[in-house]
Amino acid sequence: MTPVRLPDAEWQHADGLKSVLAALDDVYGGPRYVGGAVRDTLLGLPVSDVDIATALLPNEVINRLEAAGIKAIPTGIEHGTVTAAVAGKNYEITTLRRDVATDGRRATVAFATDWQEDASRRDFTINALYADPKSGEVFDYFEGLSDLEARRLRFIGDANQRIAEDFLRILRYFRFLARYGGGQIDGDAIQACAAGAHGLTALSRERIAQELTRILGLKDPVASVELMIDNGIFTPFLPELARDAADKLRHLVEREAQFAQPVSLTARFLALLTRGIVAADKVAARLKLSNKMREGFAQRLRAGVPIPFNVRAIAYRADIDAARDAVMLYAVDVQVPECLARLEQWDIPTLSIKGGELIVMGLPAGPVVAKTLQAIETSWVAEDFPDAARQRELAVQAVKAVLSGLD
Ligand code: ATP
Ligand code: MG
Repeated sequence: MTPVRLPDAEWQHADGLKSVLAALDDVYGGPRYVGGAVRDTLLGLPVSDVDIATALLPNEVINRLEAAGIKAIPTGIEHGTVTAAVAGKNYEITTLRRDVATDGRRATVAFATDWQEDASRRDFTINALYADPKSGEVFDYFEGLSDLEARRLRFIGDANQRIAEDFLRILRYFRFLARYGGGQIDGDAIQACAAGAHGLTALSRERIAQELTRILGLKDPVASVELMIDNGIFTPFLPELARDAADKLRHLVEREAQFAQPVSLTARFLALLTRGIVAADKVAARLKLSNKMREGFAQRLRAGVPIPFNVRAIAYRADIDAARDAVMLYAVDVQVPECLARLEQWDIPTLSIKGGELIVMGLPAGPVVAKTLQAIETSWVAEDFPDAARQRELAVQAVKAVLSGLD
């Protein structure tokens, strides 16, 4: 059989990559590209990060990179990973390894010089493809090439065992399934994921959240998320999952395509949850989501059901993204185009009336000024942001009302 060769691709010509590879040249057949870079290049997809495997020990990697004038960062030195930073790019260089002990969360590793051994501790067959940078020869120890061709996602070895070693692989399974799994679904693997789902509670919340947001951020995560729901994958860490989460997510993703209007990750996430700020807050706290995401949940939920008239008010109170998301999530079909149009080419205005003007109109200095400004702002927003002349009228009215109340 003629060996398969890695097609040429732009990332292979990045400045600095050659010098990294030259620094790591050795007698063990390395360095080699591995993982996503090989997989995605074989599929003709763009590659954003390049992982490199080497038989050299981590300290040797650091010494050689530094001797070549390349910055070496010991990002995960205890499990053998050194990052080479060169010409604005990072390359993750990991020493060949063998897992000597696993507990479902992390592995204790021993370094190795055997490529097949290194391949066997990787998660899926399509993620265990290596390529020689010089010849382009692809090394495939677990039939990853034919799986890739058939769009088949397969655990290396026994799915139950591989999941028990590291429960994060359950979520990785559904992520890679959404990305590559157009082929037949492997019922045994799904079953192993379902059986191991309880183990997800052993993982840190941050790792769960990271994988989940990666899944939700994919172009079309719907089928994969639906499988996750059907197999109880969310149960251990997301009791706030809405009953109709799959339908809501599907509806949102279809809408995005229909209106060529992508939404934020925050919106994708919200589509899964039972409606309400209390539930969203609980999720944000449990999964330690960013404050931005947590506040983003609240902004969109507060927006309620937008009507064409208040969509700019949502943008004003939060931001344009929140308003757009609220439309995509909660507006009824016929209102979507008009709502989106009202947001397009519109800059969020500022109220032109200032406190000083209110005092000139007769308001006493003090807290009443700020309160009155707020009242004016509320009317101005409710009237859909009229111009300065109308703002002045609103101000005169508001000042009058306050002064008559003060009498
Ligand atoms: P991406 O395009 O998402 O970066 P990738 O395949 O490069 O895809 P990474 O998370 O960058 O994924 O990991 C690089 C490689 O390391 C994987 O291809 C896989 O071989 C291995 N790997 C990563 N995480 C695990 C894990 N939890 N269990 C086993 N192998 C893993
Ligand atoms: Mg990668």
